Amino acid sequence: MHGLMQQRPLSLPHVFHRAEQLFGHKTIVTATADGEQSVTIAEWAQRTRRLATALDTLGVSADGRVGTFCWNTARHLELYLAAPCTGRVLHTLNIRLFPEQLVYIANHAEDEVVFVDRSLLPVLWPLADKFETVRRYVVIDDGADVPIPDDPRVLDYEELLAAAEPYQGRFRVDDENTAAAMCYTSGTTGNPKGVVYSHRSTLLHSLISLIADGAALSERDVMMPVVPMFHANAWGLPYGALLAGSDIVFPGPNMTPQAILGLIQDHKVTVTGGVPTIWMGALPLLDDYDVSSLRTILCGGSAVPRSLSEAYREKIGLPMLHAWGMTETSPIATMSTARSHHAALDESGRADARARQGQPVPLVELRLVDPDTGEEQPWDDVATGEIQAAGPWIAREYYRGEGGGAQFTKDGWLRTGDVASVDRYGFVRLVDRTKDLVKSGGEWISSVELENEIMAHPKVAEAAVIAIPHEKWVERPLACVVVKPGETVTPEEIIEFLTPRVAKWWLPDAVEFIDEVPKTSVGKFSKKTLRDKFAGYQMAGPEE
Ligand code: AMP
Repeated sequence: MHGLMQQRPLSLPHVFHRAEQLFGHKTIVTATADGEQSVTIAEWAQRTRRLATALDTLGVSADGRVGTFCWNTARHLELYLAAPCTGRVLHTLNIRLFPEQLVYIANHAEDEVVFVDRSLLPVLWPLADKFETVRRYVVIDDGADVPIPDDPRVLDYEELLAAAEPYQGRFRVDDENTAAAMCYTSGTTGNPKGVVYSHRSTLLHSLISLIADGAALSERDVMMPVVPMFHANAWGLPYGALLAGSDIVFPGPNMTPQAILGLIQDHKVTVTGGVPTIWMGALPLLDDYDVSSLRTILCGGSAVPRSLSEAYREKIGLPMLHAWGMTETSPIATMSTARSHHAALDESGRADARARQGQPVPLVELRLVDPDTGEEQPWDDVATGEIQAAGPWIAREYYRGEGGGAQFTKDGWLRTGDVASVDRYGFVRLVDRTKDLVKSGGEWISSVELENEIMAHPKVAEAAVIAIPHEKWVERPLACVVVKPGETVTPEEIIEFLTPRVAKWWLPDAVEFIDEVPKTSVGKFSKKTLRDKFAGYQMAGPEE
């Protein structure tokens, strides 16, 4: 017997029409090079309707890839809806990738048009001749003092919109499994791999920003995504905010801690999200701004150091809301909100709980698997294994089936490459990425845990631990430490600090002081760059 409910597609037109119909009076503010632009959702929706028609005028094919090379702005949000609501596929290009990767990605996705912020033209335009399928470049003038190329392929965004009639009626995407957006993820080896989100996956994932045991976005919120809109759809926050009817603030091109904190203060932002690096940078400046409006700082993308979360709790009464996921998981897979069983813990115990990556959100299933034997491991907080994930917004393969068949199991789960233990409540504690673990004498050392402990040192700003090949022990840990400005620390002090906190054989064999931990294109510690930097490094290693 079938259920007798209506079959309605779970597709993004719902997000657009809901926002337009119910929340037209709400505002979207974008910080620009020379001030701020503010539009109501009603105005934004009208512009999005014009853009939808303009995509036809541009001749973008029915499921053509629409590339964006943009900061977090209201105009980028116009593209976020106009492309998928007309059946096209939004392809957010990561503005910080190496040129060769950008060329590979745009060609592999077969982008037909690229929308580019004027301030980013110096990065994009030199590559234009190598983009084989791109016929048009639409420049969004963000006020940057950068020359616009005199080239027949180049169009002006505002002129394009002004010349277009607003799309009439309701957008329709009847097949919810149609592609809505794509995002490439770069592994450490091989070419970047395309993750293709469907309307259904995107809509379901967007709802996760609204759940109470999550960011709990509501109509009363002012949401500012600091996480870039090219990083896994800014973690679903923009679509979530439109569904909830929150006001939105976009930081635009100025991503300095001062600018971010200023926007939180001026617009009374209540919910924000970004990688730990952003919040580490803002920490020393917290006293200079009134950020009392904040109620949630969503943080993930890499492990949130316990000390960082605690520093925020101590200074502004608000620890980080830790979340874990990957481009392949849309990205939200787990979230670490407080649960009733945490209530009995003391403050330190609660901080430990918050430092975990969290519990799978509804509709996401996880299992812990020994990568060697393939056997499932118990959730006893002791056994470790690779996390495998399944759910309606978890990738089942990469675009064109390329580069990573091994990342999907025969029974349809995603192998995340993250090693963790899980407690009986399903709270994940990430030990490391498989490739970052330090293998010492047949045992694993968690680089994440060592980094966490080193970053708890009051004079340390950042720390990254990498494996150095070792004749006797196979690998041994090297700590690369960034000292806070104006402070001095010796390697011995670091080791002394760590000694009561970790097993003796975990202690790094050497501590190197560096100016900055190199970062990836999305602001994570780039261990690959560090490994290259310290290739050939010699360490003695422990005696026994
Ligand atoms: P990406 O697809 O570039 O966002 O990278 C996903 C990877 O980032 C995951 O497989 C993890 O290794 C790492 N990651 C994301 N969130 C966290 C977190 N909260 N804690 C530790 N690692 C994380």
